[in-house]
Amino acid sequence: MEKTVLVTGASRGIGSEIARRFALEGCRVALNYHTSKKQAEELAAALEECLGVSAGERILPIHADVSDRKQVEQMFAQIQGRFGDVDVLVNNAGIAQQKLFTDLTEDDWRRMFAVHVDGAFHCSQCALRGMIHRHRGKIINVSSMWGQIGGSCEVHYSAAKAALIGLTRALAKEVGPSGIQVNCVAPGVIDTEMNCALSPETLEQLCEETPLGVVGTCRDIAEAVFFLADSRSDFITGQVLGVNGGMVIG
Ligand code: NAP
Repeated sequence: MEKTVLVTGASRGIGSEIARRFALEGCRVALNYHTSKKQAEELAAALEECLGVSAGERILPIHADVSDRKQVEQMFAQIQGRFGDVDVLVNNAGIAQQKLFTDLTEDDWRRMFAVHVDGAFHCSQCALRGMIHRHRGKIINVSSMWGQIGGSCEVHYSAAKAALIGLTRALAKEVGPSGIQVNCVAPGVIDTEMNCALSPETLEQLCEETPLGVVGTCRDIAEAVFFLADSRSDFITGQVLGVNGGMVIG
């Protein structure tokens, strides 16, 4: 696959595995990070070594807080200068917070929506300029099963992830006639730093509630995203693909 791919939040966890998947498949990959510069640069160096390519030839670690429109515009300008238009955008950047709804502050609420929803809005608008012009492109949003069924003590997270599903469905209808697919992956519980705050008991309980009896891996999500980015999924748009071990069906 000879494409230019931007993965937001690619410094760690699910995003880094998605970036790795595309890079090993021959894509030019922009690895967006916010605070984890060192990790993004180390990932880029490891991929370049594995691929036997020189620094910056195929992999570009790139800073931007996706909630900040100006930083996103600058990021896209840098990608354009190095690799040209973005063919595949993966809106993966995210944050988590467990808190009672009654304790949420205005800032907690706004930050959750700023990263997940504003981030996808900014990046998708920037990516769509080139995609509409070329009449092709794929956008894959990383939502969550909590956006489908709601999670206690994660009301703001669940609401933001549900908004991402709404964005996916509506945008798919709007840009379908322009030859662009917009889909969503809704992971279940995945083994990443994001779940560090969960107690071992909670994790064990979540495993028990999952029909397949295990937590998912970053690779499980990367494979689903990769499928939605390649030509095998050309007739699929506006869909939510649950990758959750059977925790949410339908
Ligand atoms: P993670 O390990 O905590 O990584 C989060 C990533 O998002 C990091 O690369 C981080 O970058 C980036 N990020 C956070 N805020 C950002 C911002 N403002 N601008 C740009 N990047 C930002 O999380 P993860 O588990 O891999 O989660 C990835 C996605 O999957 C998230 O959208 C999450 O909601 C979703 N998800 C995860 C699970 C799960 O169980 N883990 C389940 C369902 C959905 P820096 O480190 O550089 O700041």
